[in-house]
Amino acid sequence: KHVQETERLETVSERDGTHGSQILVFVRLRPMAKKEKDAGARCCVKIVNRTDVYLTEFANENDYLRLKRLRGRHFSFDASFPDSSSQLEVYSTTTAELVEGVLQGRNGSVFCYGATGAGKTYTMLGTIENPGVMVLAIKDLFTKIRQRSCDGNHVVHLSYLEVYNETVRDLLSPGRPLVLREDKQGIVAAGLTQYRAYSTDEVMALLQRGNQNRTTEPTRANETSSRSHAILQVVVEYRVKDASMNVINKVGKLSLIDLAGSERALATDQRTLRSLEGANINRSLLALSSCINALVEGKRHIPYRNSKLTQLLKDSLGGSCNTVMIANISPSNLSFGETQNTLHWADRTKEIRTKAPEPNEEIQQIPESQTDQSKLLLELQKENR
Ligand code: ADP
Ligand code: MG
Repeated sequence: KHVQETERLETVSERDGTHGSQILVFVRLRPMAKKEKDAGARCCVKIVNRTDVYLTEFANENDYLRLKRLRGRHFSFDASFPDSSSQLEVYSTTTAELVEGVLQGRNGSVFCYGATGAGKTYTMLGTIENPGVMVLAIKDLFTKIRQRSCDGNHVVHLSYLEVYNETVRDLLSPGRPLVLREDKQGIVAAGLTQYRAYSTDEVMALLQRGNQNRTTEPTRANETSSRSHAILQVVVEYRVKDASMNVINKVGKLSLIDLAGSERALATDQRTLRSLEGANINRSLLALSSCINALVEGKRHIPYRNSKLTQLLKDSLGGSCNTVMIANISPSNLSFGETQNTLHWADRTKEIRTKAPEPNEEIQQIPESQTDQSKLLLELQKENR
């Protein structure tokens, strides 16, 4: 298994040529849920050669040559993960290189995109037994920092925030909405908790709890709203000496984003409160797609200002950043339409070309944590007992 993973990583880099100078797009198929089986669903997605995704309309439709000629039935990505793929496999193929980049002062972002129930939160956050990309990335980051601790001091800060209904909230310290301000470092959320992390152990609990702070539907108290976007920002700051022994501060930022359900992106023009929320989610998702379209077309002006989500991601999308898109899909034929939409969008994002990443080398200061971190840590330890 390990050998297979290494091989796959090489394929992705080779195909890319100038790795990091473009977006990488992956697809992850989740297993069929019991509820779907009980409803008589059958699998309409086939993954072939670890790259190609075929959508079949009928049972036993396996003439791939024919499907290849049909519109919207065949797609090909940097890698496609069948439902048997492990969290570690997904992490190491999609995100491990971005973590390496962050340690060299390059920003990066990983998005999970797809309909509600397609597996975005499972991929990003995961469970205690099967931690997802967010947790594995931080674990890997600490391992890599330990391996190169002779390079200087690394400081890791985590922020976890939500964009819901065009309002930004701090998931690590829920309270009043945060105001976005522009300063010379870019867009910052005033008062956002920057949690100084020392080890992986505390991180899963921290993120699980943060996730519980996500907005829920009034009608379904325990379910995260499908309109909520969650963003984990991991900022690594460190000092290195250059050839003439000058100390330079480097900062790399990794943004890991669990996007709102993409099915809402199609709901527009209704004047109830619900649809206002829908329209606002639309705003962030639509703004993200217009930024991506502008990047695809190589436009000079990228409309980051159109939504809170794109403002927050301004320094992590396009330009000199590494971007990874993971499209999550369900295998069920009952979700055929959603799956096809998701694959279309993913297919489009493949065309983004960004400049080769250059490390951030300015001297930047990370402000002191705004909330009482030791209190938060104590609460977490209490909860874990
Ligand atoms: P989303 O965040 O896209 O709405 P979730 O991540 O909550 O969807 O996934 C929906 C359900 O499917 C959850 O119960 C989740 O645990 C399960 N699930 C999703 N992906 C996988 C997977 N790869 N393996 C096992 N279970 C999964
Ligand atoms: Mg979710």
